[in-house]
Amino acid sequence: MGASGVRLDDTIVAVASAPGRGAVALVRLSGADAFAIAAKHLRVKLPEPRASHLCEVIDGDQQLDQALVTLFPGPNSFTGEDTVEFSTHGGYLVPSTIVAALISSGARQATPGEFTRRAVLNGKLDILQAEAVGDLVDANSHAMQRTALGQLDGGLSRRLLGLRDDLIGLEALIAYDVDFPEEDDGPVPRERIDQTARGIRKSLEALLSTASAGEVIREGAIVVIAGPPNVGKSSLFNALLGKSRAIVTEIPGTTRDALEAVIDSGKWPLRLVDTAGLRETSDRIELLGIEVSERYLTSADVVLACAEDPRSLEETISLVALSSTAPILSVRTKSDLVSNGNELVPSSPVLSVSAETGAGLQVLLGAIDAVLDARHGEIAADLPILTRARHRKAIDIANSELGQFVSSWGEKKLPAPVAAVHLRTAVHALEELIGTVEVEDVLDRVFSSFCVGK
Ligand code: GDP
Repeated sequence: MGASGVRLDDTIVAVASAPGRGAVALVRLSGADAFAIAAKHLRVKLPEPRASHLCEVIDGDQQLDQALVTLFPGPNSFTGEDTVEFSTHGGYLVPSTIVAALISSGARQATPGEFTRRAVLNGKLDILQAEAVGDLVDANSHAMQRTALGQLDGGLSRRLLGLRDDLIGLEALIAYDVDFPEEDDGPVPRERIDQTARGIRKSLEALLSTASAGEVIREGAIVVIAGPPNVGKSSLFNALLGKSRAIVTEIPGTTRDALEAVIDSGKWPLRLVDTAGLRETSDRIELLGIEVSERYLTSADVVLACAEDPRSLEETISLVALSSTAPILSVRTKSDLVSNGNELVPSSPVLSVSAETGAGLQVLLGAIDAVLDARHGEIAADLPILTRARHRKAIDIANSELGQFVSSWGEKKLPAPVAAVHLRTAVHALEELIGTVEVEDVLDRVFSSFCVGK
């Protein structure tokens, strides 16, 4: 029996592909009896492992499908168990009749994320890699895809394991002082211990500093278009969406006061928000003459203050600044209508754009990326990034415990065995994060958002 009372010694089955019409669906069967159960539902004998064979799938004397069947003997499978994958014809009926047949022969319907959970419990993936599997499935930007793949590849795990080893090394350095508290200083100079601890703190802090970038990569940066009516905000919204040839996803808003879409053509995923003309409102800021939702302004990462002339641009900027602490980019719209689109308003360079001709749009997207770079740090391709609150919390704990160790060690405030407790707690925080210790509740939280079949 494993986490949440879910049995681990039975054989599970699920449709792993998305439901609905499609050419092909994937049915996954995993567990000790997977091969025996599959054998009952194939017209011919079980095919050779690791090669796809076209097989007739049957239930008694009834034919269910012609499917490509592949056997993966454990432990060399995704779950670490004997696994059979059926690439069946798609749609609703065929895959579900195959699942039903396999269940009638002793398999059990898998719970969400149960295949990946088994992969973790069988040592095929650590928890961070399992999270990355979920992130890859949910990724809606190239940045998230890259980050999740790096994490699946073990980038973050290796970094954290390295830091855990450094902490354990530090524990070894102070072991003498722990074992012989009544003696004078141990064989390792106190400064060396101090320096080692500070070095590890620096690395933990470097990782922590990636958390805000990680959040933007996961959630997308909220870019709000604000300005008086008719200055061309909706046209700019549409032009920017049209400009970004990459994936554009319309997100139906939870409220009806904004139109939101994800742009994924630059470095950062952007959630572009247009609130123009979409509602009657009593928002203070709208009564003052610009169209934008205060709710969005307060959560914005970047605001595009739009106007057609320098004077009203200045007014818009000061109104936006009343409700938002986000960086504001000054955008002069309809640049095709003016002879000189590059005039400056005091203290702020103006970006001239035309939704009509497309002029200035690429520069505007570049300026948004630059603002985000300045705020969250550039995304370094090879550095692991913290993308979840769970990561940040654990590293925060490790860092603050190490900080307490450094200050008590430096001032000789606490006896060595007590100072060593801080190191133990720091090590434990990292181990829980990676999943090298038994942490069933962590597993429950990680897998609660998975889909069935993953
Ligand atoms: P909003 O109320 O701020 O969202 O403004 P709209 O996007 O609805 O545009 C108001 C009017 O300005 C429409 O008639 C648009 O066709 C026009 N417009 C918007 N952008 C441009 C532009 O770049 N060039 C020109 N010439 N007209 C524009």
